[in-house]
Amino acid sequence: MTNTINVFKNKSKYSASVYRKIRTILEKNGYIINTQYKSDAILNLVIGGDGTFLHAVHKSKNFDIPFVGINTGHLGFYQEINPDNVEDFVKRFVNKDYNIENLSLLETKFRNRSFLSLNETVVKSSKNQILRLKVFIDGNFLENFSGDGLIVSTPHGSTAYSLSCGGAILYQSLEGFQLTPIAPVSSSTYRSLKNSIVCPKGSKIDIVVSKRDNKHMVYIFDGKDFFTKEYKISIEMSSEKVKKIVLDKNHYWFNIKDKFL
Ligand code: NAP
Repeated sequence: MTNTINVFKNKSKYSASVYRKIRTILEKNGYIINTQYKSDAILNLVIGGDGTFLHAVHKSKNFDIPFVGINTGHLGFYQEINPDNVEDFVKRFVNKDYNIENLSLLETKFRNRSFLSLNETVVKSSKNQILRLKVFIDGNFLENFSGDGLIVSTPHGSTAYSLSCGGAILYQSLEGFQLTPIAPVSSSTYRSLKNSIVCPKGSKIDIVVSKRDNKHMVYIFDGKDFFTKEYKISIEMSSEKVKKIVLDKNHYWFNIKDKFL
């Protein structure tokens, strides 16, 4: 066991000043701070917003190292620590006075490769055109979807893009995922579900893009575009989990109230 802490931070001046402050406190407590990723570290400390947290998770190679975030962004759903409370956080970290929550990841499989996402996987048109998709859940044909696209989100990703498209808010530690339509078309020709579907752990969603649309589709993993000619994907919960330090179990409800109401 080392005493090394990996730090991920965004480029804002505010994050840089918070970094200097917490670095001094952590070093006084005997920790070594690393801005270059070390796979034997004991903590991944993220200074920024949710976008920085997503970036840090994607850069990590070892999901045994827990994450904790200091919020210098706008929303900060993953970022529990307020920059004014960093001394208190260090005290609690030293005394191991915290809980660990496991955040689920989605695994999206193409024929030859797969991607993990913490918030969501999106399939959408890269142009301003309608996408026609066939959707199967656990091998059962559900619908011929027509519209802007589909979002498959994790519970903790449910407060991001999915929520803006009318999806439900799912409590972070629920085991399952949500399929949310983006601007579904409902006409006499196309009948797409207008509502979200919440699937339990163990379910698998298959999406097949129609031949006429597979030249203008894009897959998006946690906000990052991926272009390919592959027109079939399957999405399920990964066996990998991201460990996140939780200091206050009420933080989640505070966030919902504070940031959305
Ligand atoms: P961005 O477009 O720069 O910012 C996306 C915004 O979503 C930020 O305000 C971010 O919060 C917030 N956010 C990210 N994850 C969240 C979560 N789990 N719960 C609540 N809010 C969350 O992109 P980014 O920072 O790289 O984040 C990528 C995410 O943007 C994607 O995963 C997708 O969910 C989201 N997105 C949303 C929409 C929409 O709502 N219409 C459209 C495209 C993408 P911070 O300010 O704390 O960073």
